[in-house]
Amino acid sequence: MTIDPHTHSTASDGTTTPANLMGEAANSGIGTIGLTDHDTVAGWEEAAAQVGASGVSLIRGMEVSAAYAGISVHIVAYLFNPADPVLQAHMSRVQASRSDRAQEIVERLHKDTGIVWSDVVEETHEGATIGRPHIADALVTRGVVGSRGEAFDRFLNPRTPYFVRHYAPEAATAVEWIQGGGGKAVLAHPCAPLRSKVIPERAFGELAEAGLFGLEVDHRDNDVTKISMLEDALGTFGLARFGSSDYHGSGKPNRLGENTTSPAVLSALIDGCYLEVLNP
Ligand code: AMP
Ligand code: FE
Ligand code: FE
Ligand code: ZN
Repeated sequence: MTIDPHTHSTASDGTTTPANLMGEAANSGIGTIGLTDHDTVAGWEEAAAQVGASGVSLIRGMEVSAAYAGISVHIVAYLFNPADPVLQAHMSRVQASRSDRAQEIVERLHKDTGIVWSDVVEETHEGATIGRPHIADALVTRGVVGSRGEAFDRFLNPRTPYFVRHYAPEAATAVEWIQGGGGKAVLAHPCAPLRSKVIPERAFGELAEAGLFGLEVDHRDNDVTKISMLEDALGTFGLARFGSSDYHGSGKPNRLGENTTSPAVLSALIDGCYLEVLNP
């Protein structure tokens, strides 16, 4: 059974709708998929409605944008109560801040690229969490760049003058919120240096203390020289080993099922969570 617990849909910065994602998962031989859009649960219902038709089990999750010592970190929240008021407040606050910052980035980009806010709105599904990939898509549509990757290299990374941060809670706080909402927390792609700065190793211990359940060791963005350090951290802090594709449709080269999580870790994840995995 192939388990790919971290993917994105058009509810955030993926390019595949939640319903089509379930079909693509079936075609890729995935038995269990996690839908984990950035800071939203908006895709859950549509994906859940396809569990029967696709024959693919669904883990409902969300990738929480957080920060450690000012460095952006992503924490995947699994199987929590979506009505939890603290997590709902997080979603509202981050989404509002993401929208404000995206508009500010577009204002900074306007003079050099011609891009305007309505270009970005057109690239974003209604109700989706806005991110830099939507600005990248607008730059591609305008013919300024050829791909999302080129847009990040030239215009959207933190080393450019166009970059603006969005609000993000402290990583340990986010872990506590996820547990408080009946879910479990996994630190996503902990060593993805291409994105920006990487958190220091002491963070693993601190987050484990806060209740972190797992580390995403098997992920294409992790620096390969850091894998043995991550494996050591699993043992030292009693964390579960996760792997995933972090599929974003055509927005990234990541392919469904390219990295996976073991059935034993999935069983341990499910144990005691507020929500269950939806099975066909
Ligand atoms: P944001 O959510 O606005 O901070 O943007 C970060 C998102 O952009 C990540 O979740 C990735 O999905 C995406 N991303 C980052 N770097 C790249 C890249 N080089 N090419 C395509 N997508 C990227
Ligand atoms: Fe993303
Ligand atoms: Fe991420
Ligand atoms: Zn992700």
